Amino acid sequence: MKYFDAHTHVQFEAYKDDKDEVMQRAKDAEVGMNLVGTQIDTSRAAIALAEKYDEAWASVALHPVHTAKSFHDTKELGGEGKAFTSRGEAFDFDAYEELARHPKVIAIGECGLDYYRLEEDTKKVQAEVFLQHIELANKVNKPLMLHIRDGAHQSSSDANAYLDAIAMLKSHAKVQGDVHFFAGNYDIAKQFLDLGFTLSFTGVLTFTHDYDEVITNTPLDMLLTETDAPYITPVPYRGQRNEPIHVREVVKKIAELKNMGLEAVREQILLNSRRFIGLDK
Ligand SMILES: [Zn+2]
Repeated sequence: MKYFDAHTHVQFEAYKDDKDEVMQRAKDAEVGMNLVGTQIDTSRAAIALAEKYDEAWASVALHPVHTAKSFHDTKELGGEGKAFTSRGEAFDFDAYEELARHPKVIAIGECGLDYYRLEEDTKKVQAEVFLQHIELANKVNKPLMLHIRDGAHQSSSDANAYLDAIAMLKSHAKVQGDVHFFAGNYDIAKQFLDLGFTLSFTGVLTFTHDYDEVITNTPLDMLLTETDAPYITPVPYRGQRNEPIHVREVVKKIAELKNMGLEAVREQILLNSRRFIGLDK
């Protein structure tokens, strides 16, 4: 393994016709990956796919947008034309614990708080479900893979999902983890780093400067790379479906922002990834 895509979804419906080709391309390019579940069925599918490839692992969880609201993503679940049908799922601790104990499962996620499209009562449900994920991670002693997204209106007092998540982690988490698609400022980043959480970045780095400052300030040994495929395709592949091999573009961009040699950066990020997977224990 030379690269690691810390957060990807090749088990999603977006790859139903060519999943194995996508996995093979990653294998040929020596790109390992963490297939991240978002519901019970996508978590099971992540494990099933990870079982077929040596350098693929899985994470299992109920994504905060699926806790209560009627959110349906066709790339994730298929079914063209039913953009907003009900897929709300109640978190079944025992069912997820069984999945979490699978040897190929390296993390509990993606879980957390998403205030971007909050509906009435959703916030309370999200907090309860996130807390159960923290308890599950503590119980099986595996790291958390966090999905945290702030509200669209920063002026409202309850818009900051990052601060709420940090408070919950401080009071309950006995494990560390990774903050997927980190989108906060360095002040927030520093609070996660102090808790021992790594930050991971997607191909979004190739087309915006919004995260340059956080990356420059974050120690290289606390960074992970990810694609979040099928979403967020990096330059120069914009407009196409994303896939794990494109994690190489993220590594390149970090080397550029850190003003360091590509090979040194690739090696350090691989070491960080091995630590996250638990390969060096
Ligand atoms: Zn994701």
